[in-house]
Amino acid sequence: MQLHCLGTAGYHPNESRHTSCYFLPESGIVLDAGTGMFRLPGLIQTDHLDVLLSHAHLDHIVGLTFLLGIVFQHPVERIRVWGEAEKIAAVQKLMLSETIFPAALPVSWHAIDRSGSDAETPLEIAGAQVSWRHQEHPGGSVAYRIDWPANRGPLATDGPARALVYATDTTGATDPSVLQWMQGANVLLHECNFHDHQREWARKTGHCYLERVAEVSAAAAAQRVLLTHISPIDPISLQPNDSRFAMPCEIVDDQQVIEF
Ligand SMILES: [Zn+2]
Ligand SMILES: [Zn+2]
Repeated sequence: MQLHCLGTAGYHPNESRHTSCYFLPESGIVLDAGTGMFRLPGLIQTDHLDVLLSHAHLDHIVGLTFLLGIVFQHPVERIRVWGEAEKIAAVQKLMLSETIFPAALPVSWHAIDRSGSDAETPLEIAGAQVSWRHQEHPGGSVAYRIDWPANRGPLATDGPARALVYATDTTGATDPSVLQWMQGANVLLHECNFHDHQREWARKTGHCYLERVAEVSAAAAAQRVLLTHISPIDPISLQPNDSRFAMPCEIVDDQQVIEF
């Protein structure tokens, strides 16, 4: 399974990082639609795309407006955009208003919370099971867990079951049931926007700092941790073999490809 990091910055791009966008080409699943989304066309392997939105802050949605150019370069049969109903409504009403972006996007919209239930029944998306949990962040955000069964998927190759958890724009899970839900993922893709000495800023803005991510990673027993949503202005650094992480942990870069 490959994870392509198309945009790894929080807030705004800089010379080396675009804003949040990650791509799983074998499933056609896109995690968030930040400015890194423009990198998608050359990587598409499926005739469909499924874009999962963590929330509707601009650095996670602006790339939806790039889809016209993306499908011009690489046509696909179907694009679905998933997110909480109120976030989808905000994207449609505000970002896609006549004044701001006066063109229809070639997508269908799907509310993950349409039944009113709290994701107890995972969604079936592109051969994977997708579930989600609420996170603490201004306006709210959701974390996603994607589980691929063994030896399945559109481009199936022999292999064991795989799981990835994507948790961004969050103060870090503390609820035992959420940490249980994260349990044992092959990859925990987790935001770390702030340094440890900026923990007050992290709390104030609904983000994480390294110590907090280390706590979540340990409690969730992640097999591997990838740090993302890196500040474009004052990026965190990670000491090699930081003893707070019992598992491999790294800061990912734009255009890095992770095999898991
Ligand atoms: Zn963000
Ligand atoms: Zn946000």
